[in-house]
Amino acid sequence: MTISEADALEAEASALDADDPLRTYRDAFVGARTSLVYFDGNSLGRPLRASVERLAAFARDEWGGRLIRGWEPMPGAESESAPADDVPWMQLPFAIGDTIGRAAIGAAPGQTVVGDSTTVLLYKLVRAAFDAAAAADPGRREIVVDRDNFPTDRYVVEGIAAERGGRVRWIDVDVTAGVTADALRGAVGPATAVVVLSHVAYRSGYLADAATLTRIAHDAGALILWDLCHSAGSVPVEADAWDFDLAVGCTYKYLGGGPGSPAFAYVASQLQGRLTQPIQGWMGAADVFAMGPEYRPAEGMRRFLSGTPPIVGMLPMQDTLALVEEVGIEAIRRKSVALTEFAVRAADELLVPLGVAVASPRDPSLRGGHVTLSHPAMRAVTARLWAQDVLPDYRDPGGLRIGLSPLSTSFAETLAGLRAVEAAVRAES
Ligand SMILES: *Cc1c(COP(=O)(O)O)cnc(C)c1O
Repeated sequence: MTISEADALEAEASALDADDPLRTYRDAFVGARTSLVYFDGNSLGRPLRASVERLAAFARDEWGGRLIRGWEPMPGAESESAPADDVPWMQLPFAIGDTIGRAAIGAAPGQTVVGDSTTVLLYKLVRAAFDAAAAADPGRREIVVDRDNFPTDRYVVEGIAAERGGRVRWIDVDVTAGVTADALRGAVGPATAVVVLSHVAYRSGYLADAATLTRIAHDAGALILWDLCHSAGSVPVEADAWDFDLAVGCTYKYLGGGPGSPAFAYVASQLQGRLTQPIQGWMGAADVFAMGPEYRPAEGMRRFLSGTPPIVGMLPMQDTLALVEEVGIEAIRRKSVALTEFAVRAADELLVPLGVAVASPRDPSLRGGHVTLSHPAMRAVTARLWAQDVLPDYRDPGGLRIGLSPLSTSFAETLAGLRAVEAAVRAES
């Protein structure tokens, strides 16, 4: 690399930052003014300053002040047939669910709820879908999933197949890409009960054509569940317009919910009454406080809940969701594409000559919010980077994952991080 090439990248990063309409939002995040390079906002988003305030105020005023009354109706509220409707804490899973629907996943109200972890929601929804499909047609006993889907998705599907006497039908994929229309067409048929796919592949960042793949599953008579963990808050999703049946997604990645914050579930309204989920708990019952002798599932999305809503875990995501809604998911996506395009250009200049490969799609319309760079030394490179406050993550085989959370990442930060990767690769080669 010549000096002028280095200067050209520097100048490009400054110009991109200066022209970035979202640049001021970075300051709303805790710690964004330090020199630390955060390439892992796609795994655990940075907290907003507003969330720090919200957590403290909640502990002091609501938990500390209202105590057990937090689970009761606000003074003066009417409580008739469904007492839970008057209680703000009891309503939070539905209220935030509707906000996720509106701000991030294109879902009309009454179809999205915040509940358990993504893993547990996957289990509940895939099992419910498998049972409904097999009940309607006993020949449908296969769950279709790709071999490069996130481990928890694969493990949950295998567990359900074993438990229900079904089979897993695996799709082989290129680990630098993801599931294509042809690959899915070859896997679905009259034996398919449900298809489980990730919208943005956790390893390569491949962005699946969710509308087309959903149509392929439906043409084969199957239901489909989309895992939106790496999409929600980063890539536009149109759950209703694309005719999704089911979806789940994390809130601690691009939605800023904090470590272990609860996930969301989407169930298309016309399907809700047909599904019964397997973890029958009191919070999913028709009359929560009747504490009756037997379980009857509630109408609507409440039936997909099981136990007490994780209120504290739902606090920070409200601030990020408000920001996502204010900025708009299309503007977030434009910044995300600009960041990943810049990262790929810088990687081509700084890293490809050292033997590093771009293990993500080069076409931005096929790529989500992260870029994976592969080289045999990347495990050691990652350790070196962490020791100097440059934080990407590592995924086998040899993949350094650069997550570029659009609201909190600058182009200058991206370049500083890639220069650190260059130095570390040189040191390990
Ligand atoms: C992060 C992620 C998960 C995580 O599930 P948890 O239950 O929150 O641990 C699941 N699926 C995908 C595709 C992910 O990226």
